[in-house]
Amino acid sequence: MRALILGGTREARDLAALLVGRGDYVISSLAGRVKDPALPVGEVRIGGFGGPEGLTEWIREHSIDVLFDATHPFAEKISQSAATACATTGTPLIHLHRPAWEKQPGETWIEVSSMDEAAAESARFSTVLLTIGRQKLAHFAGCDSTRFLIRCVDPPEVALPPQHDILLSRGPFTIDGEKDLIHSNGIEALVTKNSGGDLTHAKLEAARDLHIPVIIVQRPPLPAEGTLVHTAADAIAALP
Ligand code: NAP
Repeated sequence: MRALILGGTREARDLAALLVGRGDYVISSLAGRVKDPALPVGEVRIGGFGGPEGLTEWIREHSIDVLFDATHPFAEKISQSAATACATTGTPLIHLHRPAWEKQPGETWIEVSSMDEAAAESARFSTVLLTIGRQKLAHFAGCDSTRFLIRCVDPPEVALPPQHDILLSRGPFTIDGEKDLIHSNGIEALVTKNSGGDLTHAKLEAARDLHIPVIIVQRPPLPAEGTLVHTAADAIAALP
């Protein structure tokens, strides 16, 4: 079987390892955003395809039998491209997205559906920890009266709010480490996407223990095309 994995996540690397272990031909695709990405086993290609048409062409040229969309749940465009390209080529599509976080007892969530809404909610606080990656930070650029501690993996290259400090860090993070960060910076609220998974969950537990609210951006909808699974093993079980 020749599989294309749209990756950039731990789940995608887990899936590549399982498929290679079964003897399948696997090529993983990365967008090329992160300077020093963790690489999966098997072949890797890097860079965009040129929209759904480019991906359609690529699938045909490389005789791909199955496409796994194992991208981050907030990587909306590439999931849509995958749906369109698979519908056009008749290629089976499996979306592997880790489960969303669910609100736990003691947590205070302010649920929003866009970065603009998250920015509007942030403006109610003086000091906010912003943990949304670096691509969407410009949505917060107009928040003049809030100081942001921005934590991301690589340096941001977009417009930023006037009062900010940058903390470059990749995680995983511990609950005690997150509590120290929140406490020592006088953080009153944190902003996160509902990414799900264990690697960055500690901030939610730290916020709960310190009684600070979490402004949480809910996931964009998945395209109708394809089967949704939550683990690499389930992705293999879902193969046609
Ligand atoms: P996006 O908005 O859905 O994608 C923007 C464009 O980047 C796509 O149209 C596509 O270009 C290209 N692209 C995205 N993922 C690709 C992949 N795996 N392989 C080849 N091209 C890809 O995605 P994003 O939010 O910028 O995320 C980019 C990558 O970072 C994703 O692969 C995702 O898994 C990873 N990531 C994202 C987040 C997040 O919070 N968004 C967090 C962690 C990791 P073309 O249209 O030219 O094909």
